[in-house]
Amino acid sequence: MFESVSRKKVAVVTGGGGFLGSHLSDRLISEGFRVIAVDNLVTGSSGNLAHLAGSQDFKFIRHNVSEFIFIPGRVDFVFHFASPASPIDYLELPIPTLKVGALGTHNALGLAKEKQAVFVLASTSECYGDPLVHPQKEDYWGNVNPIGPRGVYDEAKRFAEAMTMAYHRHHRLNTKIVRIFNTYGPRMRLKDGRVVPAFISQALNQEPLTVFGDGSQTRSFCYVSDLIDGIFRLAMTDYHEPVNIGNPREMTILEFAEKILQITGSKSRIVTQPLPEDDPKVRRPDISRAQKVLGWEPKVDFESGIRETILYFKDSKAA
Ligand code: UDP
Repeated sequence: MFESVSRKKVAVVTGGGGFLGSHLSDRLISEGFRVIAVDNLVTGSSGNLAHLAGSQDFKFIRHNVSEFIFIPGRVDFVFHFASPASPIDYLELPIPTLKVGALGTHNALGLAKEKQAVFVLASTSECYGDPLVHPQKEDYWGNVNPIGPRGVYDEAKRFAEAMTMAYHRHHRLNTKIVRIFNTYGPRMRLKDGRVVPAFISQALNQEPLTVFGDGSQTRSFCYVSDLIDGIFRLAMTDYHEPVNIGNPREMTILEFAEKILQITGSKSRIVTQPLPEDDPKVRRPDISRAQKVLGWEPKVDFESGIRETILYFKDSKAA
């Protein structure tokens, strides 16, 4: 794939055009890797990778990883980050979401096995569903409705974890599983429907902030650079069980709306809309495993992370 003979390690990042995949690609390149990003751009964007165009350490392949993935040459790491990831996206794309979690994971694992590469699965706190245990530790098996609207994402990711562990146990592949909790930052799509871009764009446009339900449901928001740091550390370990990466600072969605109004100085009102089906009532990662195994914990406080994100949305609107 890369022409010159180089000692640099080669990483394939599926979903490399996405919010997390593009930040991960940047981090890998800054750590001295060469990156091959593979993405069909159904929810990702080439704009997220535009700054890497022309780099001799970067290649982009437009491809749907639910189909066989062919990469010639050396591959040392496969990061499987391709998937629609916002509730609105996976409601619009239920079958591609199931396919990329199931067939896409199988193909990405097959590539890693063929190349004897390290495999890292982007899994999710959605594996815990609407959790009955709080905060969520990795040994909690979750409370997922398989046939509800979120089931297409949750069950695909649970299947992906099962498949990853089977390749680890049966084929002795060096695999890792990161369970990602709500993450935000630059390069999220303004209109992806998730609460962070939704409230920021509503506040900036002086439109009402749409709180779903009574806003008492909680989430814990992690800034993207912290998340990527946790994932990079995990990739370098020999640890094979799932690891939660997220920020344990928990708040209700109503509190979150009020903070966005305060930080942006917006005069928008808060209005309520019906709570989507199976919307988890609480979510907060227990990060003791990440602290112990990776020596990792988040560093970016909520206010700083949100300010950076607001700046990004202001700039990209102006562009
Ligand atoms: N939410 C909201 N208003 C919005 C978008 C989302 O109140 O315009 C709520 C949603 O119901 C959920 C939380 O914010 O309780 C986080 O939603 P998001 O879509 O960001 O991701 P989730 O954590 O549910 O996967």
